[in-house]
Amino acid sequence: MIDQPISGFMSRRVVYGDEETPLREIVSRMRIAEQSAFIVCDERRAPIGVITESDAIGLLEGALAGHFFENTRACDIMATPVTTLPESACMSEVIRIMTKRTFRRIPIVDDKGQLTGIVNLTDLQDAMNTALERRGRDLEVAVMARTAELQAANEKLERLSQHDGLTGLLNRRAMSTRMAELHSLCERHGNPYSVILMDIDHFKLFNDSQGHLQGDAILEAIANTLERSVRVADSVFRYGGEEFLVTLPETSATEAELVAERIRRNVETLGLPHPASPTADHVTLSLGVASIDAEEIADIGRWEDLVERADRALYRAKESGRNRVVGWKESDRA
Ligand code: GH3
Ligand code: MG
Ligand code: MG
Repeated sequence: MIDQPISGFMSRRVVYGDEETPLREIVSRMRIAEQSAFIVCDERRAPIGVITESDAIGLLEGALAGHFFENTRACDIMATPVTTLPESACMSEVIRIMTKRTFRRIPIVDDKGQLTGIVNLTDLQDAMNTALERRGRDLEVAVMARTAELQAANEKLERLSQHDGLTGLLNRRAMSTRMAELHSLCERHGNPYSVILMDIDHFKLFNDSQGHLQGDAILEAIANTLERSVRVADSVFRYGGEEFLVTLPETSATEAELVAERIRRNVETLGLPHPASPTADHVTLSLGVASIDAEEIADIGRWEDLVERADRALYRAKESGRNRVVGWKESDRA
């Protein structure tokens, strides 16, 4: 801020004249130009003295006391020598000179020493105010940019904390939050909801025969298919290694089993070869479905119990041959 050059804020309107200028003319020109100083220059227009309005008031006092100034010239009353600054000097030099020498103005000269303007105390104050305002705005912009960066970083962190790195699906932590929400909606308002828990069939054999990297590619492909197979209100989570869970709000057991069947078929139709599988030529899923509504909420205390029911159904899907959908039944009760 204080390194800005004088040329940016100096005033180019300045009243000046030679040493012979009569006092009457000096006062009249200062009044007309509304300037608080008259700069006396030599024949090259180099400043050699200053007459200020306080000098003029001193003379007025003398006039009131009966002195006559009819023949007074600039050279009789000017203060000399005069301190000047070049246009290339900066604000800090103006501040230093004005505060140290209690000057209220400094004539400004070009590189040949000729008068080109003046810096008044008010010019300096205005320039400092403008610079301060600009700095305030710059700071505000910088703070806003920093805030946006932080917000983006927080959103990224938030996303990372909720998602699985391999498949991009929501993770188990996000699943707990969603399940708790759905369960409390069911408790308070009786809204039904369902879950589908699914597990890739003979995935260990796939990894053992095709390699772990190929296994990862299968997980990604299945995650993709799951997201394609559900409705907007449903959410897909990576539940564990090769296990996935879908939440289905406002969905009955019959509807959820239809969705599960669609998922099963879509994965089967992908036709991902699984030569080591004893039950199919392709990668398949087994799926367990469990649902809850206003009547059953008393029976199923916690959302974890509903997942437990889906797990039991999934176990039966595995037991009964894999690549199928099984819904929880009363007989699954432990
Ligand atoms: P089942 O049909 O009974 O489910 O048999 P399975 O072989 O799928 O079941 P098991 O639980 O014995 O094996 C699960 C396998 O899933 C073992 C593990 O190596 C694999 N797995 C778990 N997470 C990942 C993963 O992130 N990447 C890969 N490539 N494999 C994984
Ligand atoms: Mg498993
Ligand atoms: Mg498995």
